Amino acid sequence: MTSTERAIAAAEAHSAHNYHPLPVVVASAEGAWMTDVEGRRYLDMLAGYSALNFGHGNRRLIDAAKAQLERVTLTSRAFHHDRFATFCSQLAELCGMEMVLPMNTGAEAVETAVKTARKWGYRVKGVSDGRAKIIVADNNFHGRTTTIISFSTDPEARADFGPYTPGFEIVPYGDLAAMEAALDAAGEDAVAVLLEPIQGEAGVLVPPDGYLAGVRELTRARNVLFIADEIQSGLGRTGKTFACEHEGVAPDVYVLGKALGGGVVPVSAVVSSHEVLGVYRPGEHGSTFGGNPLACAVALEVIAILRTGEFQQRAAELGEHLHSELGLLVDSPAHRSGSVRAVRGRGLWAGVDIDPSHGTGRQISEKLMERGVLVKDTHGSTIRIAPPLVISKEDLDWGLDQLRAVLAG
Ligand code: PLP
Repeated sequence: MTSTERAIAAAEAHSAHNYHPLPVVVASAEGAWMTDVEGRRYLDMLAGYSALNFGHGNRRLIDAAKAQLERVTLTSRAFHHDRFATFCSQLAELCGMEMVLPMNTGAEAVETAVKTARKWGYRVKGVSDGRAKIIVADNNFHGRTTTIISFSTDPEARADFGPYTPGFEIVPYGDLAAMEAALDAAGEDAVAVLLEPIQGEAGVLVPPDGYLAGVRELTRARNVLFIADEIQSGLGRTGKTFACEHEGVAPDVYVLGKALGGGVVPVSAVVSSHEVLGVYRPGEHGSTFGGNPLACAVALEVIAILRTGEFQQRAAELGEHLHSELGLLVDSPAHRSGSVRAVRGRGLWAGVDIDPSHGTGRQISEKLMERGVLVKDTHGSTIRIAPPLVISKEDLDWGLDQLRAVLAG
């Protein structure tokens, strides 16, 4: 047995099988590259589902974490600590908002946004008790808690986990007329629309032009909160700090996670106005680890990195290159490669629908792994490409060469 096989067998024996990882056992990583337990190197084209936007072992983030590790790591919110206020004010400023409620994982932040919208509905908007409605989109992915999977349309995510939490209406993603109809049907009970500006897990689905701006108009006109789940799309990935910016849209609430912790620690947050986050009183919501000193120190460095705009620009420039190269692989009347049916995305983020005759997404991912490139499949024959934003153009081109080689069979 190789050390890879041994590690995988031990994981199989002693961990719940709620994931089906590619058969690679990573031992170390730097920048856009990972090295496995047998010394093989792989180009990371997934970046921890965009948690690693600034690369593995980013020096600034590691140094910030190390310095904080030596000072204080956890106080709980029972006491103040000296990184908290700076983190909250700087994150609010980055978002063009006023207040922050920090949590740890993405799902916790989405739960927090749901609770916040309901409380705002009852306390500020004047919705009758127990009637608050939140409109969401089909094919959404907002996390794994019982409430969040209650409004998932993915049978795998939902089955056997009921009873489900009520209070959500599901409409087709990208369909403005359906959104308007759902808001009209909910009437005064509508408290929020919760959307991913680009649906990541669904296969990097970009909504039609004007959709986000249209949702913004509909929600504003009806005094309904627009909550943008930018956990995967935000913080540089699409070539801007937030994917909503591509349509000039400022939502009422941002939900952030993943890259906010720089791939070092889990950090998530709900960011909004005084009117919205001001609804909370002591004891009504919280988290032992939310907003801890280590999380704040790393996230502050992430915010400082984002303020330079360097990574947004890299994502925009390299993203344009990625999409023009991937576009050449797509079947068109003038050109039949027979391998790629569609490519979607923005910035350094792409969903690539491979012709199923070339294999499932999983099979393509395994073949790429054999060539030293790590990606993740989703929904049948789609693979997602989302390398760390530190990737060089040469490495990106090398990764694309491997994809072309796999598709050429
Ligand atoms: N929301 C979106 C848009 C996501 O992509 C994810 C994770 O993939 C989540 C929420 C859940 O985040 P976490 O896995 O940190 O709970």
